[in-house]
Amino acid sequence: MKQIPYWLDTAPPLPDRSGKDLPESADVVVIGGGLTGLSTAYHAAGKGADVVLVEKDKVGSGASGRNGSMCTQGITIGVGEARKRYGQERARELYDAFREAVDVVEELTQKEQIDCDFNRSGRLGVAYKPQHFESMKATQRDLAENFDHETTLLSRADLRTELGSDFYHGALLDPLSAGLHVGKYVHGLAEAAERAGARIHERNAATGLTRLPGGGFLVETLRGTIRARQVMAATDAYTDRAMPWFRKRLINVGSFVVVTEPLGEERARELIPNARLVVDSKNIGHYVRLTPDHRLAFGGRARFAPSNPASDVRSGDVLKRELTEIFPQLADIRIDYVWGGNVGFSWDRMPHAGEENGLYYSMGYCGHGVQMASYMGRAIAEVMDGHPEANPLRGLGFPKVPVPFYNGTAWFLPFGGAYYKAKDRLR
Ligand SMILES: Cc1cc2nc3c(=O)[nH]c(=O)nc-3n(C[C@H](O)[C@H](O)[C@H](O)COP(=O)(O)OP(=O)(O)OC[C@H]3O[C@@H](n4cnc5c(N)ncnc54)[C@H](O)[C@@H]3O)c2cc1C
Repeated sequence: MKQIPYWLDTAPPLPDRSGKDLPESADVVVIGGGLTGLSTAYHAAGKGADVVLVEKDKVGSGASGRNGSMCTQGITIGVGEARKRYGQERARELYDAFREAVDVVEELTQKEQIDCDFNRSGRLGVAYKPQHFESMKATQRDLAENFDHETTLLSRADLRTELGSDFYHGALLDPLSAGLHVGKYVHGLAEAAERAGARIHERNAATGLTRLPGGGFLVETLRGTIRARQVMAATDAYTDRAMPWFRKRLINVGSFVVVTEPLGEERARELIPNARLVVDSKNIGHYVRLTPDHRLAFGGRARFAPSNPASDVRSGDVLKRELTEIFPQLADIRIDYVWGGNVGFSWDRMPHAGEENGLYYSMGYCGHGVQMASYMGRAIAEVMDGHPEANPLRGLGFPKVPVPFYNGTAWFLPFGGAYYKAKDRLR
């Protein structure tokens, strides 16, 4: 069993972008080489800015190379909660931003010819409890009437045409969500950013930031100091002590994925005939999808523990057990990959982006970052170019985690996790 993300293992080998001397200055320094940072670098360089991106490790080594590879429709907090908090008009604007984010990924892959298996295969939201299916009925009406988004309800019997499992009580099918191969996408976006003129420096962490009196920043890195007119923090759940303001606002949640041995096309199609992205309605939920080479990828929070090699193996065992509860026919299946990563959550479960004390940022995507990071990179490049209205998340603030002395270590997660897991067990 390999303990590396399937997506990075099956993407073309990455060039080595480390060991380069840092220039003395740049218009824009981007900190972090995930989808947020790469998209910001690509779009800012495309506007003619001189861009340097510094990445602590390799591009895609954070959450961007470790995720479920799904661009799913929908706002993180759900449309009902969005309306309650922000009113219908603002909720609709935000919903549209999440929807447009998937379009941005599609446009980027087409424009830059990134061959990454982008496919609008649709998202199947499956009901874990009968009452979840009842609330899906209301959501379907709400989406159609107030958000101009047509979805299809599937009864438990109908669901048999979409899923080789009797585990769920029905589903809501969204046709616009897309799957892709995120390893190939991250690589392609890094290459596109370089073609646009951005310079990527890997294995070079930013270690400190000093705001300059006349504007701009000095960015200290492991390989020297660079002066920048503008700086973008794109470090999400991997934000380290170099940027403590964000660490007080982010909760990093360990999340894990297993990928089976290749199943062959026929067997794979028996499990998910139309290759949907399947996401369940539990509090501590799961998702399952096929890979381009007919394996099954199955992910979820499994345990409330950080990701490290030993923890990933334990989480993989939990996921394998949960996978076979849903698909008993896979009891003998071999797991070929297991890995984990950090998902960046905010206290209010919304992503946040803007400017803090001169420093631009976008983070806290709460599990919707594949598309939102790509989209927000474009938006922040516009904001840095003098168009603050391009930020769809403007005005949302970025609330601190209201736990005394909180500095980014979420010691309380196992307690909250145990509560929600117990609620899930009451079926
Ligand atoms: C297991 C898992 C499954 C997920 N599934 C999905 C999914 O299916 N769909 C979806 O939309 N989202 C999913 N997500 C979330 C999504 O992957 C993230 O929201 C998204 O990748 C965030 O991108 P990013 O570029 O902001 O951050 P990251 O990709 O985490 O990149 C941040 C980078 O910053 C670097 N960095 C940190 N500190 C420094 C420093 N001081 N100097 C230089 N570099 C630094 C890190 O090394 C890292 O590479 C999942 C996440 C995980 C972990």
